Amino acid sequence: MTPKEAVSFVTENDAEILSVRFTDLMGTWQQFSVPVAHFGEDKFEDGYAFDGSSIRGFQSINESDMLLMPDADTLFMDPFTEVPTAVIICDITDPLTGQRYGKDPRYTAEKAEQYLKSTGIGDTIYIGPEAEFFVFDEMMFENGTQGAGYKLDSQEAWWNSGKEGNSGFTVKPKGGYYPAAPVDKLHDLRTQMALHMQNIGINVEMHHHEVAVAQCEIDMRFDTLKKMADQLMKYKYVVKQTAFQNGMIATFMPKPLFGDNGSGMHCHQSIWKNGEPTFYDEAGYAGLSETARWYIGGLLKHAPALLAFCAPTTNSYRRLVPGYEAPINLMYSARNRSACVRIPMVSKSPKAKRVEFRAPDPMANPYLAFAALMMAGIDGIQNRIEPPKPLDKDLYELPPLERAGIQQTPGSLRATLHALMEDQEFLLRGDVFTKEQIDSYIEYKLVNECDAVDLRPHPYEFNLYADA
Ligand code: GLN
Ligand code: MG
Ligand code: MG
Ligand code: MG
Repeated sequence: MTPKEAVSFVTENDAEILSVRFTDLMGTWQQFSVPVAHFGEDKFEDGYAFDGSSIRGFQSINESDMLLMPDADTLFMDPFTEVPTAVIICDITDPLTGQRYGKDPRYTAEKAEQYLKSTGIGDTIYIGPEAEFFVFDEMMFENGTQGAGYKLDSQEAWWNSGKEGNSGFTVKPKGGYYPAAPVDKLHDLRTQMALHMQNIGINVEMHHHEVAVAQCEIDMRFDTLKKMADQLMKYKYVVKQTAFQNGMIATFMPKPLFGDNGSGMHCHQSIWKNGEPTFYDEAGYAGLSETARWYIGGLLKHAPALLAFCAPTTNSYRRLVPGYEAPINLMYSARNRSACVRIPMVSKSPKAKRVEFRAPDPMANPYLAFAALMMAGIDGIQNRIEPPKPLDKDLYELPPLERAGIQQTPGSLRATLHALMEDQEFLLRGDVFTKEQIDSYIEYKLVNECDAVDLRPHPYEFNLYADA
């Protein structure tokens, strides 16, 4: 869309207000609204001023004035407002210098795409994230936050405890993949979500109930890196808003329920050059080219640091444990779901050849996570990093001694943040990430999440110690 077309779009849709949005360092949409009288072609030159001092991880008070520059291609009508509202996603710049802001996640995603081109390895990277989420009604959510899995013997008892009368047709823990209605009671809700998504330009491929109680997945068609990160922000907005309008709460926290699967965001990735896929070779293991194998080598080598962006909460490490289809082994495999990298064998087409990195979860800031994954992969290709030999056995079932030789994902957010402190040079190449950005991110996470959680008595500690 040109600025002129953007202005006509707003007029034709009778929008009365414009919601101006950007993403903070942690991956949450922020916004303010301006009457459409203050929207015109000039805004694509002049931008909207805002005070960045109170935005998590951004500026200090003495340098807080910032400018939002609207991106005409991102305009859409908000499906959830009573008053017709147009939404536009923005880039962040410094009003004095006109320079792009180094901590803006969307800028990082853009620089990552440019960096790929500059290496000559490829010109396009496609990302296909599978974001899972839970839907609770508000009462259940409260029960869950107070004591999911702690006070009751089984998850099923917990789930059924909130219901009156007939508790037939329930999804049992780990039993939700994927029965038809009436066991799946969320079908209509997901359809509403999917239709809203399609109306705002997201290409939905399918939706289904997921393995856990009250867990869902809606799949989007893959797209290029920055575009896909924009789409994921829209995806999460639609999921949360649709649930909310139905009196429910959708959560992307990775592990809300003890004893059941958590929510992941597997990321499918492939690099293309001149319209040709670079990840396919008929002769390679699982049809992978050397390039793809080295890309995997990079992902696995940098996985501990990558997880700081990809599995970015204290709760993420309650998901990355054995037994729930979440990966823990820093391995790759064509079949194995306990491996961090899986090669889907769904199609013989070279175009479909991709690697699936399974460790990420949907709390990730998509701009930073996708960029970091690609930077790790490129480092692998440039330095010809060989991944450990693929293992097609079920890694969960390996004898302990054999398993001991396999490197595992870090056990806590704090550990991944420390890994990122040690291993970040690969992210700084081409100025894709900036040092200040990584430092602010680490500082915020350490203080506001790691320390904040560690300082508080844990509900299960009462179970263990209160009356001992
Ligand atoms: N929920 C699982 C995870 O945490 C994935 C399950 C699946 O998609 N088959 O990654
Ligand atoms: Mg899936
Ligand atoms: Mg899934
Ligand atoms: Mg998957």
